[in-house]
Amino acid sequence: MKQNPKRCVKKREHPIDPANVLGKKNKEREISAADHRLLGQQLDLFSISEDVGVGLVLWHPNGTIVRNVIRDYWEKEHLQNGYQLVCTPHIARRELWKTSGHLDYYEQNMYVFEKDGEGLVVKPMNCPFHIAIYKARPRSYRELPIRYAEWGTVYRYERSGTLQGLLRVRGFTQDDAHIFCTAEQVKQEILTLLDFTRRIMRRFGFEEYRVYLSTRDPEHPEKYMGSNEEWQRAQNALAEALQEKTIAFREVPGEAVFYGPKIDMNIVDAAGREWQCTTLQFDFNLPKRFNITYVGADNKEHEVVMIHRALLGAIERFFAILLEHCNGNLPTWLAPVQVSVIPVSDDCLEYAESVHRKLVSCGIRAELDDSTSTVSYKIRNAELQKIPYMAIVGKHEAETGRIAVRKHGTGNAGSMAIKELARQIRKHGN
Ligand SMILES: [Zn+2]
Repeated sequence: MKQNPKRCVKKREHPIDPANVLGKKNKEREISAADHRLLGQQLDLFSISEDVGVGLVLWHPNGTIVRNVIRDYWEKEHLQNGYQLVCTPHIARRELWKTSGHLDYYEQNMYVFEKDGEGLVVKPMNCPFHIAIYKARPRSYRELPIRYAEWGTVYRYERSGTLQGLLRVRGFTQDDAHIFCTAEQVKQEILTLLDFTRRIMRRFGFEEYRVYLSTRDPEHPEKYMGSNEEWQRAQNALAEALQEKTIAFREVPGEAVFYGPKIDMNIVDAAGREWQCTTLQFDFNLPKRFNITYVGADNKEHEVVMIHRALLGAIERFFAILLEHCNGNLPTWLAPVQVSVIPVSDDCLEYAESVHRKLVSCGIRAELDDSTSTVSYKIRNAELQKIPYMAIVGKHEAETGRIAVRKHGTGNAGSMAIKELARQIRKHGN
């Protein structure tokens, strides 16, 4: 984590310096103004309605645009990096969750119901579905690794007192994937995943991490599924991959869940807060419970190695973190509206309409502010909506076929051709 050494020294010298206290207060005020719930309302991105149910998120049109842009980017990256996209149902038979063990250990968090005498469960996880796709036919070692990825929406019961905006909800979408591979392929998979995660997070402006390797409690191996050899091999593969990528990490013995070791790559946001998003998790439990195997080069059946991984985690939560990280100033490639076209007067409306059409045809998300408000009000409104660009058009622009561009937060960016603005925006990764 980046630290300001000067500030630390000052703090020690003057532990009750009023300036420090005031600074802290200001910082708190900044954070509360950047609360994702306020930003969500101000920018009309999402809401949670008691009529619908607590912990259930309604994505408004603007929020849905951002969500879809994130998903398109995510899907493209996954397809280019050896993943296959899958799509699975929202409910499944009770028996499936009996096999997976969820019904025995997790039922208090599951929505279980009955229809025509058949027990059904609203899915709290996607894993059993991906396993079912894997098991749809026999698999050869030649096919491995198989990587199934899905934006899978799951529902988990959380007590109403624990719910908090988008950070803790009852229905959410995970950017989930499951990797099925051989023991020999594990290390390479982890190496690739570490690079992949960092590239994806960098795209959203997160460069700083705290990384944890959760391992078995060496004093109590009986508490865990899987053999000593499996644990040792998996823990070594994770640690070696982190070392090879020179990623600093902290090992936390005893923090692993009973079914396998994991890596958490927690992102650090602009306010220095740490958030758990990315998890790469081994599983020695489900392959045994579901008997998932592959046929090896020796023509014999072998148990497959299974890794669960989510990079962004829950999309709702990631969206909240991202919003607070950038204080609602989403990068241009994610902004729901990238350009507000603002005519100076009604005389220029026709030209403004043509500018709007041209930007849209160039693939830019543009809106036309044809309200009767004054220009200064329209500019102020676009600033409040945190729209990255404004294209202001008056008589002069209509005559020259150009636009006067303003950038959010910085102001006048000069006169330019419509295509030039479209080019600049696309360069930011549209
Ligand atoms: Zn899983």
